[in-house]
Amino acid sequence: MTVVAKFGGTSVADYQSMCRCAAIVLDNPATRVVVVSASSGVTNLLVELTQANLTDERRLELIKSVAAIQYGILDQLGRPSEVASELDRLLSQMAVISESLVLNRAKSLMDALLSTGEMCSSLLFAAVLREQGARATSFDVRKVMRTDSHFGRAEPQIAQIETLVANALVPLLQDSLVVTQGFIGADEHGETTTLGRGGSDYSAALLAEALRADAVEIWTDVPGIFTTDPRLASGAKALAEISFNEAAEMATFGAKVLHPATILPAVRRQIQVFVGSSREPEKGGTWIRHQVENAPVYRAVAVRRAQTLLNLHSLQMLHAQGFLAHIFATLAKHRISVDLITTSEVNVSLTLDKTGSDSTGAGLLSEALMQELAEHCRVSVEDNLSLVAIIGNRIATTAGVCRTVFTVLEPFNVRMICQGASPHNLCVLVDEKDAAAVVDALHTNLFETQA
Ligand code: ADP
Ligand code: ASP
Ligand code: MG
Repeated sequence: MTVVAKFGGTSVADYQSMCRCAAIVLDNPATRVVVVSASSGVTNLLVELTQANLTDERRLELIKSVAAIQYGILDQLGRPSEVASELDRLLSQMAVISESLVLNRAKSLMDALLSTGEMCSSLLFAAVLREQGARATSFDVRKVMRTDSHFGRAEPQIAQIETLVANALVPLLQDSLVVTQGFIGADEHGETTTLGRGGSDYSAALLAEALRADAVEIWTDVPGIFTTDPRLASGAKALAEISFNEAAEMATFGAKVLHPATILPAVRRQIQVFVGSSREPEKGGTWIRHQVENAPVYRAVAVRRAQTLLNLHSLQMLHAQGFLAHIFATLAKHRISVDLITTSEVNVSLTLDKTGSDSTGAGLLSEALMQELAEHCRVSVEDNLSLVAIIGNRIATTAGVCRTVFTVLEPFNVRMICQGASPHNLCVLVDEKDAAAVVDALHTNLFETQA
């Protein structure tokens, strides 16, 4: 039995949190590989460091804040000299890259800068494990996590990762626990890349796939996947198990607890995924499996904020062929994936999927894209929207679902509806300002009053 355990930012935020995670790792001898995110807050600080026009003063403040988080952990570890000198090296590398970015705005440099967060946390976490008596090595995941060169949201190269893992990672597991980084990788030239924000879950699943592991554990700040984000509804309940399909839909439609791509490697190799809280491991968590005992019509409600709706209008669309093909080709050229779509005689409205959006938070709609679209149609953009998704089973084939849902939605304006393509979801696009109330109303009616 082999388990890959991933610990998110809050789980490795400080020394005490890291000690709790170390106890979880050591409690299960099957755990061979540990994947960590950057300590909580560090990636946000590094993202700000990549922004243009930072004053020198702000840049130094940001560097100091990252250093304070990392040295705080080192101090509590008693400053072992090898770890201290490696941490000094990483933090001075971070300072040097941030200075280079003032003049050179290359995306490869931004990814190199972002990677220092995970490099520091993995170094420190391996030291915490050793302090607790384990044999643990920190391993540079860039030796095996091969991606393309799309900096900021690089695409993992599955076959190559598998070979590299077999050659460079598996031999190390004979006599040591391996602690490695989530979120980062390297292209064929050895340049550092990142997988997009929240990508450490995906890293853990990819490594589990390459290692042919039996399970991936995602340790976070909530004891499992809930019927909705517990921060949004006090009545949200943890789910004991859900299917791969349901989990994939939840992650895609905004349940931040899992990066949307996490389920793909798990499905390919039928690897079970566990989600639990590193602060309260005794509470158990959620198992995501291929087969589950119950497949209820309503499983959860998810919300994705800051959605962009693109409205395209063209008289050429009337009874014409190929218009949509053209629009989709243009969006694909700009690496934008379309999310929801509705059409009428001369209009197409679509929401854009920000799932693969850039690690540095750069916007999706570039000038070049807008100009290219404008050559074929009139384009308008609407912002300040949220997509609320009801996730479940047989939604498209169960009578009464629409009546139930739209009765609850009566007080709200629904800008767009998508239902029917998948048996697992029904989505509505609403005003950002209504999103919390819509989620609350749906959750109360679908999960609390009927329970
Ligand atoms: P980590 O840093 O461990 O990766 P994240 O912040 O990325 O943690 O994800 C955990 C958060 O996901 C939770 O604190 C919670 O607010 C949010 N979340 C959103 N939807 C759900 C859901 N359905 N169930 C549980 N958590 C959810
Ligand atoms: N540290 C990265 C982020 O904050 C990756 C992750 O946490 O999954 O997005
Ligand atoms: Mg996360």
